[in-house]
This record gives sequence, C-alpha cells and structure tokens, in this order.
Amino acid sequence: MTRICKNTNEIVKKDHALVKIEDASTHLLGILNDVLDMSKIEANKLELSPVEFNFEKMLDKVISVINFRVEEKKQTLIKNIDKNIPSYLIGDDQRLAQVITNLLSNAVKFTPEGGEIQLNAILLCAGKECQLRIEVIDNGIGISAEQQERLFDAFGQAESGTSRKYGGTGLGLAISKRIVKLMGGKIWIESEMGKGAKFIFNVKMQMGEDGLSIQQDNSNIIQALDKNEFAEKRILLAEDVEINREIIITLLEDTGLIIDCAENGKEALIMIASDPGKYDMVFMDVQMPEMDGYEATRCIRELPALANKKLPIIAMTANVFKEDIEACLAAGMDDHLGKPLDINEVFVKLRKYLG
Ligand code: ADP
Repeated sequence: MTRICKNTNEIVKKDHALVKIEDASTHLLGILNDVLDMSKIEANKLELSPVEFNFEKMLDKVISVINFRVEEKKQTLIKNIDKNIPSYLIGDDQRLAQVITNLLSNAVKFTPEGGEIQLNAILLCAGKECQLRIEVIDNGIGISAEQQERLFDAFGQAESGTSRKYGGTGLGLAISKRIVKLMGGKIWIESEMGKGAKFIFNVKMQMGEDGLSIQQDNSNIIQALDKNEFAEKRILLAEDVEINREIIITLLEDTGLIIDCAENGKEALIMIASDPGKYDMVFMDVQMPEMDGYEATRCIRELPALANKKLPIIAMTANVFKEDIEACLAAGMDDHLGKPLDINEVFVKLRKYLG
C-alpha cells in the first residue's frame, strides 16, 4: 500500500491506500500491545493502576469504540446497567475497559449480521469494597464444551481455522483472564455450539467518593484547542530519533509553540544550562545516546540557576511498565507521555504545564 501510494498521482487512490495503511497500522499496534501484555504476564509484571473513574462513562467510551462495527454488521447492542452501581469507582478503568472491549469485539466478530449482543453490569455486593458482574451475551456461532476449555490459554482459539476465517491471535481471553484475576475475580463462559455465547466475569472495585479527583475529560480537546494557543511559549524537545522529532514538530505546527530540538540528553542539558530561563517546558525522551533522559533530568534539577524555577519536564517513552514511569518521576520528571504519542494527551500536558 505504501508503494501504491507513492507510485500514483491520483488523489483518490492515494487516500484509499492511506486508509488501508492506517487500518493495518492500528491492527498491528493492537497485536503488539497484546503480545506486550502477554510478555508482561509471563514476566509477572502486569500490574493494575487504580484511579477514581466514572463507571458509566467508561462503558460509554467502550461502546463508542465498538459501535461502528456493530452498525457495520447491522447488529443490535443492548446495554443494561444496574442502577445500584456507584457512579464513581476506584480501580484500573483502562484494564477493565480492555476486558469488556475484548469480549464485546469477540461477540461482534462471532455473531452473524443482524445478531444481538447484550452488555449487562450488575452490582453483586455493595459496600466500601463492592463486587461487580459484567456479562456479554451474543446469539452467534457459540462454542462447544470441549472448545471452551482452551479458550483462556494463550493463542487458544476454538478451531484451527478460526484465525484464517475470523482473524485474531487468541491472546485476548488469556489477557482478560489475568486482568480479572488481578481484580480479585474470575471469568467463565456459558455456551453451546450454534446457540450463542455468554461471557461472565466478576471483579472487585472500591467505591469512589465524588469524582472530584477525576481529571477532566479530554476527548474533544483537539476541537477545543485554539490556533496559536501557545504562541510565544518555547519548549525543548530532547529526542534522538529524527522521525519522532518530525512528527511532534508537525503535529504542533499550528499551536504557535517555538520548538528547539536536542538530539541527546547531554545536548539538552547544555542548552538549558546556557540559558536557564529560556524554556517553558521540556519533552524528554528516555533512551538516548550520550546521556539518557533520566540523567539529563537529574542534572537539570541540580542546576543552581533553576533552583527556584520549576521547569516542567515530561518524559516521552515507549516504556509502559509501571516501574519505568516511577523511574521517570524519581529522576525528577513531572509527568509521562506514552509512545506512540496520542495528540490529545500531548495537548492535555501542554495545557496543564503551559496554560
Ligand atoms: P481472538 O479473538 O484474537 O482469536 P480471544 O482470546 O479473544 O482471541 O478469543 C479466543 C477464541 O475464543 C476465539 O478465536 C474464538 O474461537 C473464541 N471466542 C471468543 N469469543 C467468542 C464468541 N463470542 N463466540 C464464539 N467464539 C468465541
């Protein structure tokens, strides 16, 4: 597709190729994330990061991601949420959403056109620690008792032809099982061949308070961002990979930001030390030659000229293990952005530290 795109002058053909490239990249990223999750599980490093979150909003977000596929297959998705579930819960919302997304996308995938899918959320046990049950029910192809046994194993699919016919890697349910276990619950199936499937899991969550600790919802931040919103602000981008510098500079073109670049930590340190008041913020890659982002940050924090000025330093790294993020904070960085960069998140950080 990249070759088709490069070799044609027809804009429609170029657009078509770009859409395909984007689809394939998103798909590939999904597989990479699953494989990464699986290796974390094998290395015993999958951990939860609990935050306070709005339960129903989380479900709506999951549904909005799935909905276009539901519509594509002319299926109906029915949502039943128990009114007694507290609005705010404390738990790892992203991991919970990951499990529900996995079950819903399987339900869509293994249910023919015009089928029906149900998402139920039930409060099993109320209190400071509450227990929830989530059910995803479909009327699709179903799974035989014998097949059910291996579905929660890594790379386990019902039949050897499944991957060819429906795609997928067979990792989703293995990952879901582990996440649910970390959340103090379990997951199981009730199904018969040809009669649809019901996936059920229970998890424990803490009851939230009032949602006051929840960060603002930033899903529409791109539209809300004014052109030149950060005019006159100057940031330093420390990043050794040229294409990553190009992406950030291009993405932030319209914001009015002045962006200087350093190609390693040492260069960043020299640029800041030579004019300590110059920068309003630093985006710091972690793995760089000569001097990495951790050391550069520690040195910047020790500069006497910056002793009374809190220069925000935001780590930009593909390392997503909890301890890597903690290492960034321990080195003196203020915050963290995961790669590949999500432009919405970049804007949120810019607003937070420059606004
Ligand atoms: P993947 O969907 O990538 O194959 P999963 O681990 O999510 O991986 O699912 C494993 C297998 O379980 C699927 O390949 C399919 O055979 C079976 N399966 C999962 N959900 C359903 C469902 N709702 N109906 C029928 N079979 C399902």
